[in-house]
Amino acid sequence: MTDCIFCRIASGEIPATVVARNKDAVAFRDLNPQAPTHVLVIPVKHYNSLIDTDSDEGAATVAKTVRLAVQVAKQLGLEDGGYRLVLNTGRDGGQSVFHVHLHLLAGRRLAWPPG
Ligand code: 5GP
Ligand code: ZN
Repeated sequence: MTDCIFCRIASGEIPATVVARNKDAVAFRDLNPQAPTHVLVIPVKHYNSLIDTDSDEGAATVAKTVRLAVQVAKQLGLEDGGYRLVLNTGRDGGQSVFHVHLHLLAGRRLAWPPG
């Protein structure tokens, strides 16, 4: 989708600080970090939200996206301290960009429950 900001980041059309990528997913620094480490991990294929991933292909895409997040956490040395993966979905979930993305947050003690 050419009007989707994350599709444009995935294609390289819009710059981002990419920390890892493979053929299925891309990880890059969030523009407005909420923790010392805040990386977004997105599938290359566009899905508006998690709601649209209830298919074999969608589930495989989500799994591959989570896998890249796990690899990035390892690459950035986050395994000792731990980290949080967040997948905001829809209005009440706090989703603002409608291309599925995982937030990888780490580097400080994160509060629970979330606001
Ligand atoms: P959401 O609220 O949809 O779960 O998260 C969207 C995230 O995307 C926010 O944390 C926001 O800071 C980030 N974001 C929005 N636009 C851009 C952008 O153009 N580049 C980067 N790197 N992050 C963005
Ligand atoms: Zn997109």
